[in-house]
Amino acid sequence: MKDVSFDTLAVHQSHKNKNNFTSKATPIFQTSSFSFKNLDELESYFEGESPYLYTRYGNPNTDELGSAVAALEGADSGVASSSGMSAILAGVLAVAKNGDHIVACDDLYGGTYHLLDAELKNFGIDVTFVSFANEQEIRDAIRENTKLLYTESITNPFLRAENIKMLVNLAKEFNLATMVDNTFATPYVLQPYLDGVDLVVHSATKYLGGHSDVSAGVIVGSEQLIQSARQKVISLGANLSPFEAWLTCRGIKTLALRMERQNKNAQFIADQLNQSTHIEKVYYPKKVSEKGNGAVVTIELSSNCNVHTFFASLGWIKIVPSLGGVETSVSYPSGTSHRNLPSEAQVKLGINARVVRISIGIENQTEILDQLLSAIKTSLR
Ligand SMILES: *Cc1c(COP(=O)(O)O)cnc(C)c1O
Repeated sequence: MKDVSFDTLAVHQSHKNKNNFTSKATPIFQTSSFSFKNLDELESYFEGESPYLYTRYGNPNTDELGSAVAALEGADSGVASSSGMSAILAGVLAVAKNGDHIVACDDLYGGTYHLLDAELKNFGIDVTFVSFANEQEIRDAIRENTKLLYTESITNPFLRAENIKMLVNLAKEFNLATMVDNTFATPYVLQPYLDGVDLVVHSATKYLGGHSDVSAGVIVGSEQLIQSARQKVISLGANLSPFEAWLTCRGIKTLALRMERQNKNAQFIADQLNQSTHIEKVYYPKKVSEKGNGAVVTIELSSNCNVHTFFASLGWIKIVPSLGGVETSVSYPSGTSHRNLPSEAQVKLGINARVVRISIGIENQTEILDQLLSAIKTSLR
């Protein structure tokens, strides 16, 4: 740029189009909007020929994430959003509206339970919660205005692997949509879309990101349903930031490696802890898929362990009310994720003050085990 003042140069100098560099990694399109050379180019956006106008409507980084997860799940299309919660909301609103009814599993992530139970009422959407372990309970809950069956592929904190085929058949029989939260399993272990589930949703905050440094969500499904979900993400302003989409895409590159290691570690820890006399129960699913059974192990400490001492004696294993990172961490369902659940509901699900959820990381498996066993030993009364 010639013949402009320093002031103008400072504004425009760094804005030259650099899209022609052949960078190996996707650049971060940290921009709120896109520019056009002339009105014909602008018009071409509205005719669907040019993809980007405004980041809330779409951005190369968030699109890369949506497409990556769709590819891993075997789905046609995907859209990224600001969190797992907003992805769930966008997915639900893509199939249900004022006057509709949803049948949901009673054993859901606490935030999802609250969204479905409390917030959706304000949208005029009614939800019935039943145990999805029992087909008859689901059948009995279906009404004339039911539109959707909602569950998680591996439930939290007791890690029951849901019978997806039964759910899909039931949905076909009653002409309902199905939506499955696949956060705990990840597409490495399970691909519910390929079994006929209509919408698969992820808290990418967990395993997809994998490094506990982003909040993000993704929803995948058919072109038509995702178009509708994308419109909700746009209207609700639930778009993901380009940088967080970029971080999540980077995390996904090692998803297979992390999950292979974490699944193996979790199987080992579950098998070993099963032999400890100071553990009342070990919850770890069997045969979820040939790839593994997930990387979360839930235990119930026996009554001769002091729970506070156990949590305070874990060394490099941190107390974290989340999961899915490369570091092993522990969480306390009765004190965090399920804290607000009425005590009768906690008892019904089997949650008590001695239940500990362990998110197994990529560390050396013997050292993870030693750290856990040593904390159990220290906690004995
Ligand atoms: C964490 C989590 C969510 C919510 O995701 P956010 O990214 O925190 O909004 C939903 N479902 C499951 C199973 C989760 O673990």
